[in-house]
This record gives sequence, structure tokens and C-alpha cells, in this order.
Amino acid sequence: MKLIRKSYTLAVVFTAVVTVMLFSLNANATEDIQLKPIKVSEHVYYFHGAAGVASSANQGFMSNAGFVVTDDGVVVYDALATPVLGQAMITAIRSITKQPIKKVIVGHYHADHIYGLQAFKKIGAEIVGHENGKLYLSSDVAKQRLEQRKAELFPWVDDKTVVVAADKWLSFKDKKPIAFELGGIRFQIIDSSGAHSSEDILLFVENDKALFAGDIYFSGRIPFVGNADSRTWLQTLDHLLDVKPVVVIPGHGSASTNTIKDIQMTKTYLLYLREKMGAAVQDLQGFEEAYRQTDWSQFEKQPAFEQANRLNAFGTYILMEHESLEKH
Ligand SMILES: [Zn+2]
Repeated sequence: MKLIRKSYTLAVVFTAVVTVMLFSLNANATEDIQLKPIKVSEHVYYFHGAAGVASSANQGFMSNAGFVVTDDGVVVYDALATPVLGQAMITAIRSITKQPIKKVIVGHYHADHIYGLQAFKKIGAEIVGHENGKLYLSSDVAKQRLEQRKAELFPWVDDKTVVVAADKWLSFKDKKPIAFELGGIRFQIIDSSGAHSSEDILLFVENDKALFAGDIYFSGRIPFVGNADSRTWLQTLDHLLDVKPVVVIPGHGSASTNTIKDIQMTKTYLLYLREKMGAAVQDLQGFEEAYRQTDWSQFEKQPAFEQANRLNAFGTYILMEHESLEKH
């Protein structure tokens, strides 16, 4: 009897402690995150997320976002993975400039870049996205992903988190960039839709030759290709070689000044995947055999090869099957 009462008391105490811990975790969630803007050029800053996947350890801060300070307001690119992070971005931007935050360009509608948007919407910034983003908003994927993130990133993503629609949906004619000017800074919004997602857009800051490149840019490592459309991706990379950015801020990883080399490396890799997997599809060779027979030695020593190469090759194999069917 005594023993039962003792363990009951222990259980009550334990529950109380856990409740207090959870409560303080919840209370601190909105206060503890402080972001440090990293300056990459005269007008451009970014926030550098941790490597790896979203988890409670990194509080969802595992992607990049950034902003451009002009004499007539601030332009933001992407909004990170939680409303709390979006608010932390606003606080950090205000530590750099008193200029109002006028626009947020949504690079693409993937969970790690968008749940911060509602903080910007609240302060009246104009949200700008590619028109294909509308499809995401009405999709089951959007709902499923939000539920998944609520489970993984509570309390940073919770029932109050929503997917914010753009105030302005952009449509591009023949993939021609859309230019605009603010406070003496010239911008180009580059359409890369279809490369990594159906609604990719990049932001080029002409005055600084700085580029926000979203998830199509990888520096010194094997890219993550997955089910990307490498044909469109290669077109964007060629456009970037014309634009010649001096500094590139990718969606993940450090900003790079090795821009031409990075772009060439990604190009070489994508072309090689397409060539080898394309030939296998032509010969009606199975994926397993094609993968085994391909000489990967020129890429093997690159970081992320082990994690990404096989999946990239498989994604490309399927893509090449689709492309070959298109031709018939
Ligand atoms: Zn993405």
C-alpha cells in the first residue's frame, strides 16, 4: 500500500515537472529565437539556417532567408519555417534599418521557407509569389505538410500557423525576368518555375550583383536533385551565367562568392546524370544495372555524394523516361 502511494506521489510530481517544463518551453518559444543578419554586400543581408532537417533542436531554423535595404524600404526574400522565425526576422531587420518592410518575395512554397510569412503579412508587407503557387495553396500536399510540421515543430508551428497566399501573383511571359526598382536599387525576379518546384523564383539585386537563388543553387557539394526538372534547371543556370552574380545566397548552406565555379559544377553534374540515365532509358536498361555501370568517380569525393547521388540518378532516370515518351 505504502509503495503504491509512494509511486503515485512520484507520478504526480513527475507530471507536474513535465508540465512546467512544457509550459516554459511554450512560453519561451516566441522569445528565445534571435537571428543574426549576415551582410554579404552593400545592401544585402541574410540569415543562415543550420544544416540538416527541421527538428525541435534547431527550432525549424534550417533554411536561409534574407533582405535588401534600400532608401525607400526593405525587400525580403523568403520567410523561414515558422511564424516565430518570421517575427525574429522582422526584429533583426529593424536592428539594421528603420526603413519599412515593403515586400516579401516567396522563392517557392516549401514548408521550410514559408511559415514565417504570416508575421510579415501582419505588418502590412506585400507578399509576392509565382502564380503557380496558387496550385500549392489549394493542394492536399500543403495541408499534409502543415500537419506534419505541427507534429515535428510544436510549439513553433501550431494551430495558429497558416499558409499565406501572395497578395500579388506574378505571371511571366516566355520566362522573361520581371524588373522593378525601389529606393535606387534595381531588382530582377527570375522565373525558374519547374526546376525545383513548380513556382521557383529567384531575386537578383543588380546594384550589388547579389542573387537569392532558393533551392536550385549548391556550393561545393553534390546538389539535391530528387524529382526536379533538370531541363528547366539547366536553362536557369545558363541564365545565371549571363547575369554573373558576385555573391549567391542559396536556400540552404553558406553564401558563396565562388559563383561561376558552383554553377559550372552543378551544370556538369546535371548534364552527366541526364546523359547516362538518358542512354540507359534509350537502351531499355534497368535502373539498378545502369547505376552500377556508370562511372561516378569524378563526383565521388564531393560532399553529399553518398546521401544524394543514387536518389538523384533515380529521379533523373524517371525524368528521362518521361521525356522519351514525350517525343513519341
Ligand atoms: Zn524547397
